[in-house]
Amino acid sequence: MTLSVPFDNSYARLGETFFARLAPTPVKAPKLIALNDALARELRISPDALCTPEGISMLAGNSVPEGADPLAQAYAGHQFGNFVPQLGDGRAHLLGEVVDTTGTRRDIQLKGSGRTPFSRMGDGRAWLGPVLREYIVSEAMHALGIPTTRALAAVETGETVTRETPLPGAVLTRIAASHIRVGTFQYFAVRGRTDAVRKLTDHVIGRHYRQDVQAGDALGLLRAVTGRQARLVARWMGAGFIHGVMNTDNCQIAGETIDYGPCAFIDAYDPAAVFSSIDLHGRYAYQNQPDMAVWNLAQFATSLLPLIDTDQDRAVEAATGVINGFTRAFRDEWLGVFRAKLGLHRAEDADAGLITGLLDCMARGQADFTNTFRGLAEGTARAQFAEPGDFDQWVREWAARGASEQVSEADRIALMRRHNPAYIPRNHQVERAITQALQGDYGWFFRLSEACSAPFTERPGYEDLTCPPKPEEAVRQTFCGT
Ligand code: AMP
Ligand code: MG
Repeated sequence: MTLSVPFDNSYARLGETFFARLAPTPVKAPKLIALNDALARELRISPDALCTPEGISMLAGNSVPEGADPLAQAYAGHQFGNFVPQLGDGRAHLLGEVVDTTGTRRDIQLKGSGRTPFSRMGDGRAWLGPVLREYIVSEAMHALGIPTTRALAAVETGETVTRETPLPGAVLTRIAASHIRVGTFQYFAVRGRTDAVRKLTDHVIGRHYRQDVQAGDALGLLRAVTGRQARLVARWMGAGFIHGVMNTDNCQIAGETIDYGPCAFIDAYDPAAVFSSIDLHGRYAYQNQPDMAVWNLAQFATSLLPLIDTDQDRAVEAATGVINGFTRAFRDEWLGVFRAKLGLHRAEDADAGLITGLLDCMARGQADFTNTFRGLAEGTARAQFAEPGDFDQWVREWAARGASEQVSEADRIALMRRHNPAYIPRNHQVERAITQALQGDYGWFFRLSEACSAPFTERPGYEDLTCPPKPEEAVRQTFCGT
């Protein structure tokens, strides 16, 4: 069985200002850990062919398949508010793009595939832990219905990478609508390359926003990207997800979640929760995520200003108007997400108060985020509260609101079950999967991945995965994948 990947590489055709063209660096002994068969089929690639030595060789970066045009993308970015004019793919290679079975163009990228001109001091590699974490969490996000990059495969390299200690190396094959970020625009804007910003704008409109934005309409693009960020971050909030590094280089223009470094799902609800070891001031705390999205959009707008209007004041005014629209768009999305979580089909003005009323109770009671919402349909939410007095009060309000719906209770329960997962990749479970894998045992990785692949369906045998961590199991800090 020979491997055939129907590449059609539009980013590579933009020209060499946008990337450095080079192949991945081969590794010693590639071994397949996991392959996402369903996703491979979606991409019109045979999963069987990917499992052959030829396929695994491609997934490890040891051979470049016919039609690929490997390159490392250039980008800049604000990291924790500080601008870095050159970041770029320092440990990733875009192999190329394919048009999937639905007609959507998708990037195929290797991550951990060797040094590039953007590597700076880095080794261009990834260790097994972050590769498994991204595989588990990105696929879980997809199953939760949250826009995200995907994981096609993970391979061991047979090589050791040195972090604090020697660790096994791995390569992730990541699939994305594209890997274009706010930072990609910033890279050219800060260099005064308005021509390149224009070219990128047209590429992005054609690729991601053809339905909504006319070619050349930079302000329209800003509006559309703002809408997708509002939609995305509202969904993160609804899942109790903390991205952890919302730097502009990790803010993808198509509106998918990208770069699963120190991300985590909340167990006990705390709106100020932060997990990332490097986020010392809580910049990217759970409740700050909408504001940080606005901050990133303002950087995007700044890069687009020369295209919005030749008069800078007018450009700033127009862009500001669009960015200000985020608040309203986000609120509408957030209300939609949480209404469904409460089993409400209709919208009422008082719903925002009802939602924050529950979240406030949960914060006071340190209730488990996932189990409280899931428990609303099952009648087990009360058990999440040490002192359920104020929760009981809230339930009376919620019951009255529910009774005002022209929908049966069974329908409301069904709606809640579709929007409140039983399974999320809890941090301590992800850690367990990684710890076991380091012993050569991928059992927990597959078990956790399997449960999270159908998060809204409770299945016997997975009860333990719904449990919050015991105090000694809790993982309070997460680390970047570097
Ligand atoms: P990230 O933390 O993944 O968002 O990466 C931030 C920047 O550091 C990007 O430019 C990466 O390409 C680069 N980088 C991260 N890890 C490595 C590594 N091991 N080798 C080279 N570059 C890296
Ligand atoms: Mg990144």
